[in-house]
Amino acid sequence: ADAAIGHYLRSHIRTVPDWPSAGVQFRDITPLLSNPRVFRVLIDQFVHRYFDLKPDAIAGLDARGFIIGSVLAYELNIGFIPIRKKGKLPFTTVEETYELEYGSATVEMHTDAVRPGERVVLIDDLIATGGTMGAGAKLLQRLGAEVVECGAIVDLPELGGSAQLRAAGLPLFTLVDFA
Ligand code: AMP
Repeated sequence: ADAAIGHYLRSHIRTVPDWPSAGVQFRDITPLLSNPRVFRVLIDQFVHRYFDLKPDAIAGLDARGFIIGSVLAYELNIGFIPIRKKGKLPFTTVEETYELEYGSATVEMHTDAVRPGERVVLIDDLIATGGTMGAGAKLLQRLGAEVVECGAIVDLPELGGSAQLRAAGLPLFTLVDFA
């Protein structure tokens, strides 16, 4: 992405040390959302990126992926698919479990959320280990969708998640790196 815009967006992300646990530098995107000019610049990066790609739908990851993903879907005039933490979706679901540093997490999607062959862009706020994005992509692929790209605001490249996702054949688009 454009380096000047990346720098501008980066200056509106707040780093909270040792949250939610010691040693974690939490990259808080709420200042990006509360400033209407910055929020528009942020969303426009994705709109311009995906206008020509013309995906059939946007899938967003619970919960910050919903904020970006739903506005993006609305702007592109396509549907939005929520991928949720386990236990929130009422209809029949497929689920995918992935490993965290301590324990595991499970995400779910409705079985009728996509049709085979649909081209979907998957959105979250941040890629750390890549586990969340990878699990979301797997759910979409299991239902026969094509994940045309994974988009996020922030990448933490030193954790290796983005490299792993790319190695698995998933195209990635991110706007801001934090070392
Ligand atoms: P991962 O599955 O390890 O790639 O973690 C990505 C998910 O966890 C995203 O949904 C992020 O919102 C959240 N996350 C992980 N690490 C951070 C961090 N340092 N700052 C903010 N959010 C994080």
